[in-house]
Amino acid sequence: MNPANSGDINIVETIFNAVAEGIIVVAPDQRISSANTAAHQMFGYPPGHLMGEPLNILIPMKYHKAHVGYVDGFMNQSAKRSMGKGRELYGQRKDGSQFPLEAGLNPFELNGKRYVMAIVIDISERVEQQQQILELNEQLEDKIKERTQELDEAVKVLRKEVQKRIEAEAKTKEALLKERELGELKTKFLSLVSHEFKTPLSGILSSATLISKYKTSEQQDKRDKHLNTIKSKVKYLNNILNDFLSIERLETGKVSYNHSQFPLSKVLNEVVYDANTLLKEGQRINYPENLEEVELIFDEKILELVLSNLVGNAVKYSGEGTHVTIEGQVEDEFLTLDIKDQGIGIPLEDQKHIFNRYFRAENALLTQGTGIGLNIVKTHLENLGGSISFVSKPGEGSVFTIKIPTRANHGA
Ligand code: ADP
Repeated sequence: MNPANSGDINIVETIFNAVAEGIIVVAPDQRISSANTAAHQMFGYPPGHLMGEPLNILIPMKYHKAHVGYVDGFMNQSAKRSMGKGRELYGQRKDGSQFPLEAGLNPFELNGKRYVMAIVIDISERVEQQQQILELNEQLEDKIKERTQELDEAVKVLRKEVQKRIEAEAKTKEALLKERELGELKTKFLSLVSHEFKTPLSGILSSATLISKYKTSEQQDKRDKHLNTIKSKVKYLNNILNDFLSIERLETGKVSYNHSQFPLSKVLNEVVYDANTLLKEGQRINYPENLEEVELIFDEKILELVLSNLVGNAVKYSGEGTHVTIEGQVEDEFLTLDIKDQGIGIPLEDQKHIFNRYFRAENALLTQGTGIGLNIVKTHLENLGGSISFVSKPGEGSVFTIKIPTRANHGA
């Protein structure tokens, strides 16, 4: 400094010491040639104690090396600038503690020597505030993450709930449908019973009434005829009831099968014997000769039910003087049986519905029936590893074919 007079010196010095920023003048040998009150306070030195000290005492140890380079470089460039842009600067107090600072460097020349006047601001508070803002931001981000996660969880729970409701609704619908089907079954049963039972019952009643009129022993023939009528009609009614029971059992999964070993001829004989009682004038059933030796492991009762349905239908849906022929063979542990008739056949447009429960073809409506038999037959056969199919020509006749394993799995 080169003040013009002592009055000026005082004013300059007063200002020098009054400014809030620390002012430190550094000589070319990097010693402090001047420092104001604020600089002393900032670095924790008693007034005047910084004079002549090396600048390094204000700089934390770890920056010393780099700092010497900076200052030298700066001295040679001699342009005003602020220090530490983009990087953090630290000062070191007398007690060794450190604080962040910002410094503006102003080079000047005095008596041919280059000095630097550093204007230093303690930015501890600002840094602390920034730190707090950063922390607050982090907390905020954490909170947002937490909330997002909570929301995600809530959405997941809601989705599951919605899925559950949809499933429950589907189940309720299914249950309602089952209930409705059951209701329909009951209604159908009642109407069938009242319709299908009336004719055979009135037949039974008239046969019974007639029997009572034939009193003499010569009239035994007539009594037998009416007794046979009664027997066959009772059997017919019994079959309808059995069909309904079968449906109920199949529907509720209560059906269980009993496998045993038996000769096929035993079942065929029983079926043909019963069907013979239903024959019309001139009808006959041709019995297969080649199957006498066939032994089966199967559910005997079910095979009887299947065959009596098919042979019964063949007789029922054929006219007087026609033949029903049973043919078959065993191949690869499967028995195939064809039941052929020369009856009314099944109209082409009805053929695809023929195994549907209660379905009856257009041309069968004048004949007694319930439309249950084939449906039950198919279900049982498929449950037991077998199958059923048919070929039919309206007006010419039908062939129903069943295929069953000869040694069915006992567990089936
Ligand atoms: P139902 O004979 O009591 O009506 P089924 O389930 O046994 O019931 O048969 C369903 C329908 O299939 C019959 O109503 C009939 O239309 C047709 N059908 C079955 N077998 C024959 C057959 N052999 N010839 C002509 N139609 C038949």
